[in-house]
This record gives sequence, C-alpha cells and structure tokens, in this order.
Amino acid sequence: MDILYMREALKEAEKAYSIYEVPVGAVVVYEGEIIGRGYNQRETLNDPTAHAEILAIKEASKHLDAWRLLNCTMYVTLEPCAMCAGAIVNARIGRLVMGTRDPKRGCCGTVEDLTNHPKFNHRLEVEFGVLEDECSSIISDFFRELRENK
Ligand SMILES: [Zn+2]
Repeated sequence: MDILYMREALKEAEKAYSIYEVPVGAVVVYEGEIIGRGYNQRETLNDPTAHAEILAIKEASKHLDAWRLLNCTMYVTLEPCAMCAGAIVNARIGRLVMGTRDPKRGCCGTVEDLTNHPKFNHRLEVEFGVLEDECSSIISDFFRELRENK
C-alpha cells in the first residue's frame, strides 16, 4: 500500500515539474482514502509556505473539518523541511512515509529531527526509502534540465 500512495505523491510532484516548480508532491491518507493532495507551488503563488506538504495538510484538514490529523499518514516524495516538519507535528499526523532524504534541508532525521524531538509532545512514526529511486531522480532530472536550459 505504501508504494501505491507514494505513486500518488509522485503524480503530484510531476504536476510541479510541469510548471517549472521544484518537483515535490505529497498526499494525506485517512482510512485508506486520499483526503489531501499537494505539490510545490512556491514560484507560482509567490508564497514561501506553498510547499506540497502544507497544501496537502490544508486540504486534509478541510476534508475532515478538523486541524488534528491523528490517524492520517502523509506520503511525501522528499523529506520535509523545518517548516513542513513543524506543520506535520502540529497537525498531529500519525505516520510519515518519505521517498528520499534531503541532505540540505531535511528535518525528519537528516539535518535535524523534528518528528521525534524528545521535548515535543507529539512524535510520529517515520519511514524512508519508499520508491526512493523515482523520488530522487525526478528532482535530479529537474535540476539537470534547469541547468541545460540556462
Ligand atoms: Zn517544506
């Protein structure tokens, strides 16, 4: 099942790719159903908070009519940054499944770990490496294309 939902997150990342945004995608799953989707739209919306995870959380909260996403799982192609990891903790998401690590910004275990901070009142289950090759190559392809088109 993890692979299936990560494929959906990758579809979101492809939407970002097609509009020249850094291709990151996320979905939120509740009781087997996708209730939130998002892809990075930072440039399009001129909004530094318009990351895939934030947009997916907003949609999921609207769907459940609740800010707590306790029994939800988020699937995201790239390890969330500090802002998104903070939002994930604040939304009380129960489980986080990631495609690939972000060695420069990842705050779910790589650069820093906000998902299992000993002093925070919410911790969650985290998993790395679901469809890792696809999730990392979509980003490297994007940046290669960007360099070639300069
Ligand atoms: Zn982020």
